[in-house]
Amino acid sequence: MVRIAVIGGGVAGLAAARRLTLRGQRPILIAPPHDVPSRGETLSFKALPFLDTLQGLELLDGGNALPSDGRFSVWGSATLRQATAGEGPGYHLDRARFEQQMRDWFVAGDVERVAANVSEIAHQPCGVALTLADGRVIFAAAAIDCTGRAAMSSGAAAARRRLDRMVAVWRVLDLPDEAETVAATLIEAVELGWWYMAPIPGRRMMLGLFTDSDLLPSGVAQDGALWASLAADTHAIAPRLQSLGLECVAMRAAPAVAPAASVTVQRLIEGRVLRAGDAAAALDPLGANGLATALWSGIAAADAALGLVAGDADAGATYERDYLQGIAHHLATQQAMYAAEPRFAAAPFWRRRQSSFTANHQKERSA
Ligand SMILES: Cc1cc2nc3c(=O)[nH]c(=O)nc-3n(C[C@H](O)[C@H](O)[C@H](O)COP(=O)(O)OP(=O)(O)OC[C@H]3O[C@@H](n4cnc5c(N)ncnc54)[C@H](O)[C@@H]3O)c2cc1C
Repeated sequence: MVRIAVIGGGVAGLAAARRLTLRGQRPILIAPPHDVPSRGETLSFKALPFLDTLQGLELLDGGNALPSDGRFSVWGSATLRQATAGEGPGYHLDRARFEQQMRDWFVAGDVERVAANVSEIAHQPCGVALTLADGRVIFAAAAIDCTGRAAMSSGAAAARRRLDRMVAVWRVLDLPDEAETVAATLIEAVELGWWYMAPIPGRRMMLGLFTDSDLLPSGVAQDGALWASLAADTHAIAPRLQSLGLECVAMRAAPAVAPAASVTVQRLIEGRVLRAGDAAAALDPLGANGLATALWSGIAAADAALGLVAGDADAGATYERDYLQGIAHHLATQQAMYAAEPRFAAAPFWRRRQSSFTANHQKERSA
């Protein structure tokens, strides 16, 4: 048995810890107390094989996840369309509840838990020394950094590059008793960016505007009425809010703001430290791939860490190559999605996305 530390207890960290236990290890999971906000997210159908690998398909119960009836969008023209069948339906998650259940289920007796933040990582000849915020030091044969956008292990040797300034300005709205819901995602492109609306288990609805932080009209983040007035100026979101009786509810409180920029990296592995999930690369939420990537990379990083510790140098290289290829594919898909919306080509949000993310990323990889 080898001692592998997993840093961060989000979806990627829990997947990594679970994979290590399924491979007969007893990892140490270093994570601060639960802190994920209760927002809605879509779990892509692409995530299901990874949950299955973790023996976790039962996590998709009615309290955590609603099977989706698909994705509708107003994108490229003012007409409401259903997304192509090739995308496959996923699940509408209560993200906080899903993650809590994942933690309860996956992190049982086989995982050593330390409720703390890691403040420093020092590379050692045969592993890593992790200094915790309270000054304790933990030694491990390898560490998997799953600290999300904080990416606490990234430094000069693995510079991260932010590709845009996207933020989400969002609220979770309680549905009135009489509202009839459809378990589908609705996405609408607007000049400022795009709106996302999707149900959450427990008769709630997530409504969010995704735009660049510098384009957000002044005061929107503090003013629910101003934010709701932007939603009112849409073709499909506004009538849907109205039919659910939510157009006034949306105005009552200020929305929350979350960073949602795309961030890529050059290197995923340094010595015996591997990065997974958003700590490796954070993706534009338009593709709804972040959770599937967190699950996949948590599993793959756990396997690569075991390989590295056993002296298999290719294990890390294979993980890094697969991840970077996945990001390149994601960025190409994302660019095609943005290119499919010509109506606002002159607006800054869309103009910025016409420039090549993929070219930037490839330039960076070959640097
Ligand atoms: C607004 C928004 C909407 C999104 N919608 C979707 C969607 O619909 N579908 C989808 O698939 N993806 C979506 N995503 C992306 C998805 O949420 C992320 O890709 C996913 O949460 C990444 O998981 P993670 O485990 O890598 O990171 P996180 O969930 O961020 O977890 C990181 C953990 O590390 C801990 N941590 C941080 N620093 C330290 C430290 N120093 N020491 C120890 N622990 C630390 C944190 O407390 C946290 O618990 C969305 C993202 C945003 C911002």
